[in-house]
Amino acid sequence: MSKKWVYLFNEADASMKNLLGGKGANLAEMTKLGLPIPQGFTVSTEACVNYYDNDKVIAEDIVKQIEDALAETEKITGKKFGDTEKPLLLSVRSGARVSMPGMMDTILNLGLNDVAVEGFANATGNPRFAYDSYRRFIQMFSDVVMEIPKSKFERVLDEIKEKKGVEFDTDLTADDLKDVVAEFKALYKEEKGEDFPQEPQSQLMEAVTAVFRSWDNPRAIVYRRMNDIPGRWGTAVNVQSMVFGNMGDTSGTGVAFTRNPATGENGMYGEYLINAQGEDVVAGIRTPQPISKLEEDMPEVYEQFMSIAGQLENHYRDMQDMEFTIEDKKLYFLQTRNGKRTAAAALKIAVDLVEEGLITEEEAVMKVDPKQLDQLLHPNFDVASLKAAKVVAKGLPASPGAAAGKVFFTAEDAAAAKANGEKRVVLVRLETSPEDIEGMYASEGILTVRGGMTSHAAVVARGMGTCCVCGCGDIKIDEEAKTFTVDGQTVKEGDYISLDGSTGNVYIEDINTVEPEISGDFAKFMAWADKVRTLKVRTNADNPRDAKNAVEFGAEGIGLCRTEHMFFEEDRIAKVRKMILAKDEAERRTYLDELLPLQRGDFAGMYEVLEGKPMTVRLLDPPLHEFLPHEDADIEALAKDMGVTFEDLKAKVESLHEFNPMLGHRGCRLAVTYPEIAEMQARAIAEAAIEVKKSKGYDIVPEIMIPLVGEVKELAYVKSIVVKTVDEVIAAADVALDYTVGTMIEIPRAALTADQIAEEAEFFSFGTNDLTQMTFGFSRDDAGNFLDDYYEKQVFESDPFAKLDQTGVGQLVEMAATKGKATRPDIKLGICGEHGGDPASIEFCYKAGLNYVSCSPFRVPIARLAAAQAVINNR
Ligand code: PEP
Ligand code: MG
Repeated sequence: MSKKWVYLFNEADASMKNLLGGKGANLAEMTKLGLPIPQGFTVSTEACVNYYDNDKVIAEDIVKQIEDALAETEKITGKKFGDTEKPLLLSVRSGARVSMPGMMDTILNLGLNDVAVEGFANATGNPRFAYDSYRRFIQMFSDVVMEIPKSKFERVLDEIKEKKGVEFDTDLTADDLKDVVAEFKALYKEEKGEDFPQEPQSQLMEAVTAVFRSWDNPRAIVYRRMNDIPGRWGTAVNVQSMVFGNMGDTSGTGVAFTRNPATGENGMYGEYLINAQGEDVVAGIRTPQPISKLEEDMPEVYEQFMSIAGQLENHYRDMQDMEFTIEDKKLYFLQTRNGKRTAAAALKIAVDLVEEGLITEEEAVMKVDPKQLDQLLHPNFDVASLKAAKVVAKGLPASPGAAAGKVFFTAEDAAAAKANGEKRVVLVRLETSPEDIEGMYASEGILTVRGGMTSHAAVVARGMGTCCVCGCGDIKIDEEAKTFTVDGQTVKEGDYISLDGSTGNVYIEDINTVEPEISGDFAKFMAWADKVRTLKVRTNADNPRDAKNAVEFGAEGIGLCRTEHMFFEEDRIAKVRKMILAKDEAERRTYLDELLPLQRGDFAGMYEVLEGKPMTVRLLDPPLHEFLPHEDADIEALAKDMGVTFEDLKAKVESLHEFNPMLGHRGCRLAVTYPEIAEMQARAIAEAAIEVKKSKGYDIVPEIMIPLVGEVKELAYVKSIVVKTVDEVIAAADVALDYTVGTMIEIPRAALTADQIAEEAEFFSFGTNDLTQMTFGFSRDDAGNFLDDYYEKQVFESDPFAKLDQTGVGQLVEMAATKGKATRPDIKLGICGEHGGDPASIEFCYKAGLNYVSCSPFRVPIARLAAAQAVINNR
């Protein structure tokens, strides 16, 4: 039998999500549950992949299977596609494995043409409705399939409304809508040079192709990169018979969540519009009614709706986000899925579901996206400043958090301002659309004039964890002039405003923000994650404040203390400079002696905060000239201080210049040239450890890390200095001290010779920043300049400096881990590159058998959760 590409809703179920996409699999599951679902079929994600592999042509056997499924759908519905009497009309919608809101496109009312619209008017006895459906179809088909901008159609519609003297679409009569259709078709012909397609079969195939094509539109590519979705997954296409919410006042359409997606509160949360079709609710064109209003309008439908929604939540054991349509008092569900939610809501729902006995603790751990935890760590307004501030307008509290920043009126302006170094940007729009995605990502906050809690702005902002206030009708926006007026004041581009995404309040001032407090649910939830995970989570920190923060977030130690960061401090940079520029070892040692107590103090401060938790201290790593003065005036002052001439010192500074410092005199190479630096640092570490061990009684075992090793003899040499120094310190002290010496694996040669390196190293810490740089040969300082071109041209799907390249760099990590263990079975393995805070990379580290990951303080909770999910995913 040939491969099956197309599945009727009654041939599949929820387990087939990868093949049929989330929407398709759930439509099948709901069909299986006997719920009122307009029937249809799903073209699989594999068909989409096949389309791309087949030079963007849908293969013949797929076309054939679509035709067969269509014939079956006709039988099930008793209507015929393209029929002039009682035509079957279809919706065509994308549906990937994971939902990609706003990224893909939908076409409704497919199958209408000049003849079918008459038949449809007769069959329904409602010509107004028939022509309304046709004009929507022409508009959507033109936009999605033919790429004629929607706005051109909207302009035509607005002109006609104005001519007829009506405010809302619903006030247009059947004859008015016939005019709209005629004008839309004329516009189509003007744009395309041909008539609007009348053949339903070709409309369908064009629409399926358009959905496949939209998988690779630039917005989808950006979304995939932000959300770690592989390009090879493809999207499914759902073809479903239409039901109509725009048949009059006994019809309507809406979206609802079984729990509040912003707070997680248990209770139906949704909105609907009478006499409207799906797009009207999400597009925010008319402001919808709360779902509770349905109880007044159509009590029986409301009751049925509530009962099915409850059934769905129990069935999926998660908060559901549902789309429904009422066609002349008959309720249909068009989709259900696990609803997107804020991080706070995700935690509350996960904890509540456990407490309600619906799921286990481990299932709860899987219900929160680790990256989302970021949101909980986002700022809120400072209470005192907020009290003094004046609310000038109020919109819907669409996505919580606080934002204050400069106003920009287009997504491009917002993104450009951010790229040019503007730290805090607030995007103000009439409403947002998928084209705005990059500008939304660049913004601290988003304010829209139109649209409800399920509008594009609200849904997308919640997903990103960006503060958003939407549907704020109080403000009058002039997009052309780039201003808005509210409360008698005019706000221009670049002025400051503040938004409270938790209350919907808007302020024309720059209100101070403060770090958030973490709720009780958080601790409970994280404890469940901690029970499961086996990877330890450490942090990268080089000052006591960051270390303390990280410990509060659950860090179990420090995986990387970059000592060079300590050298930049105000009170020591001059000493560091003198040390580097010293004429000989003897002079260098005098300056190192001045630095010793400062370094010792730094380490003691760290050990105190850590209260016995481990800390890996790395010896000086970066090229020395990074510390040097470059301005003549600074060189002059330093020369005076050191008692040398300006010319001599300038010549010395210039002699330290390197053409390629990332591959230059840095890491352990510095210690090979200047062992006295390593000696001072090793002494400072050992003395600090002994001091705090004695004063506080913590069991401290220093871990001293030698960076940028590529050859075991480099390590052996520097280690000998370290060991000699530390042993001398211990011998002179009256307490015992254990310590270990290890290295970073950040040069490919170190990974390749890890068995030899492990002869000397008691631990490895993978420095995947440098390892990525050197494996790809991409300068980590400059790659950002061209990586955008790589994403755009789909050479890369993600930034290898953010998400570990498992195929290449990962192979080196695995090889080094295996070789290291072969030499030294108890070798401790960790990662301290940026990847240590990235969930997908953390899962990789777990599988590679690492003992811990180390990441920046604010990513510690993310890493804890990702480490727990890694265990569950790989059972
Ligand atoms: C690394 O290279 O991954 C690393 C952690 O070191 P640094 O970023 O300081 O070079
Ligand atoms: Mg490095």
